[in-house]
Amino acid sequence: MTLATDTRADQVADKLEERELDQLLVNDLINVRWLTGFTGTNGLALVGRDLKLFVTDFRYVEQARAQVPDSFEHARGKQELSEEAIKRMSGRVGYDDVHMTVRQFNKLREAVPEGVELVPAGGVVEELRAVKDAREVEAIRAAAALADEVFAEIAERGLVGRTEHEVAVDAEIGFRRRGAAGPSFSPIVASGPHGALPHAVPRQVPIEADTLVVVDMGCVLDGYSSDCTRTYATGEGLSDEMRSVYDLVLRAQLAALDAVRAGVGGRSVDSVARDLIGSEGRADQFGHGLGHGVGLDIHEDPRLSQSVSDKPLAAGNVVTVEPGVYVPGAFGVRIEDLVVVTDDRPEILTSFTKELTVVG
Ligand code: ZN
Ligand code: ZN
Repeated sequence: MTLATDTRADQVADKLEERELDQLLVNDLINVRWLTGFTGTNGLALVGRDLKLFVTDFRYVEQARAQVPDSFEHARGKQELSEEAIKRMSGRVGYDDVHMTVRQFNKLREAVPEGVELVPAGGVVEELRAVKDAREVEAIRAAAALADEVFAEIAERGLVGRTEHEVAVDAEIGFRRRGAAGPSFSPIVASGPHGALPHAVPRQVPIEADTLVVVDMGCVLDGYSSDCTRTYATGEGLSDEMRSVYDLVLRAQLAALDAVRAGVGGRSVDSVARDLIGSEGRADQFGHGLGHGVGLDIHEDPRLSQSVSDKPLAAGNVVTVEPGVYVPGAFGVRIEDLVVVTDDRPEILTSFTKELTVVG
C-alpha cells in the first residue's frame, strides 16, 4: 500500500528524537486513525525508530489487514490491547497524558518491564495532524462543498414558521442524503435572542420573521469534518442594530481572513478581528476564540485565540475564521469560513454567500 500512512510513522519517529523519546504509545483512536488508517473502535500503536507495531483485537483483525499498511507489524491482543505493546517497550516511552485515563495509566505503570521509563508526551501526533497533506485537504474540501449545498437548501426551503429543531434535523438528513457519514457536530440553529448563545441547542420553537438566525454546521466525509456558520435574515424588517452588527462581524471576518497566512501567529490573527469588534465597543460581546483547526476532529490544533501562544501558522493548516457578536436578550451574529493556510492568502473552502441573505 502507498498510503500517506506509510510515512506518518516516520514523521512520528522524527518527533521522538526531538523529545528524546525512544518510543511513543498512541492510544487515542483519532491519532491511531491518522497514524495507521485504522477506523475501528479498538486499536493502538507503538512507534519507535525501528518499531511500528499495531495492535487490535479479534473483531478487527481482518479490517486492520485491509487498512493498516504492511510497514506496521500487526499483532492481536485481548480486549486490553496494551499488554501486547508493553512486551515490546524499551527505553523512554512517551504516553498520551491528554487522552489516557488514570486507570489505563495505572495499569500501564504496573505492567511495564524494568528499565522502561514512562514519559508524558501528549500532543506529539496532534502537532503533526495540524498540517494536512493533499489528500486530507481534498477530503475536507469535499465535506465543505457538501455542506454548502445544505446551506443553500436551507435558504430555499425557508425558515419562518419552522422550528429550529426541524431545520437542524433537515440539515442532518441533507448531509446523509448527499453521502456524508453524518454531521460533524449537532447543528446549531439559533434564532432571535437564542442566537446570543454561541452554543445554542435548537429548540422546538418556530422561527420568527424579521430576525437573525445563526446556523452553524458541518459534515463528515471520509473521516474528515467541515465547519461553517452563516447568519440568515428572516425578513427585510431587521433593526438597525442587527444590520450594523452583521456588517461589523463581516468586516471583522474579512479582515481576519486577510491576516491568515503561514508565519503569522494564531493569537495575532484573533487580535485583528477582536480589535475591530472592540473599536465599536463590542469586545465583551465576542467571548470566544476566533477559530480552530479542523481535520479528523472538529476541534483540533492550531487555535486562533488569545489564550494560546502566538505560534506561527503553517502552510497546510486548515482552520476556521469565525468571529461573532452576541447581544444578550436580542440576537447574535456569527460568520465562519473554513480555510487552508498558505504562504499567501488562504484558500477558502466554504463558498455559501456571506452577503446578508434574506430567507422567508
Ligand atoms: Zn462552526
Ligand atoms: Zn467552528
